[in-house]
Amino acid sequence: MPDPILQIAGLDARYGDFQALYGVDMTLAEGDVLAIIGANGAGKTTLMRSIAGLIRNGADEIKFRNVPIGALRADQVARRGIALVPEGRQLFPSLSVEENLLIGGRSGRQGPWSLKRVYSLFPILEERKRQPSTSLSGGQQQMVAIGRALMANPDLILFDEISLGLAPIVIRDIYRALPGIVSQGMSAVIVEQDITKALSISSRVYCLQEGRVSLEGASTTVSREDISRAYFGIE
Ligand code: ATP
Repeated sequence: MPDPILQIAGLDARYGDFQALYGVDMTLAEGDVLAIIGANGAGKTTLMRSIAGLIRNGADEIKFRNVPIGALRADQVARRGIALVPEGRQLFPSLSVEENLLIGGRSGRQGPWSLKRVYSLFPILEERKRQPSTSLSGGQQQMVAIGRALMANPDLILFDEISLGLAPIVIRDIYRALPGIVSQGMSAVIVEQDITKALSISSRVYCLQEGRVSLEGASTTVSREDISRAYFGIE
């Protein structure tokens, strides 16, 4: 088994007095795709934001290639090679498509991803490159958010609800692009509400329920009954 790229151990995350994650343990092997499922409010976004350094935790609670990163700031985490495609995309509305993409390239990391390569993955973005990002459709904005993360040449990419609110045909296109993105050694964590999609794209799946891991298993072998129980807490 390859060494883990990401190890999370006993992660507790809080918003002030409110505790959103309780003792989350998670392991991602190098080159793997891990899916996180769970109902609204289960803590999926909190977990992603914790890994990305947007919520700061105990240093040892999150390790990236065996180095503690739990207490680092988001910019420090990004420089080490972790990029987040956030829920709701969070593009810079006053900037053009291309300017948004170039922001991802500021990580200073070298690698295969460039504007040219992002445009060959999503050709529509090259056609719209001078337009304000807000003039694009939701699906195209999601492509900009993915492209911006790729421009940072991360070793680990985090996708938070990439298909939320998008038309089925756009979701299909984005899911078709994913294997090409992660095939070259990149590892990925994907938060996905659609359980079938989550299982089809990943090798391991974790379910969160009220801030705790309620299921962990290989995506090919977990049963629908186990998932229903873990997702909804039905006994
Ligand atoms: P969704 O699918 O709705 O995005 P989620 O699984 O991503 O849900 P989180 O967004 O991580 O869940 O939220 C986990 C819990 O933390 C929820 O109870 C939520 O209300 C709470 N929470 C999230 N953000 C904050 C915040 N900024 N301040 C206080 N509580 C928050």
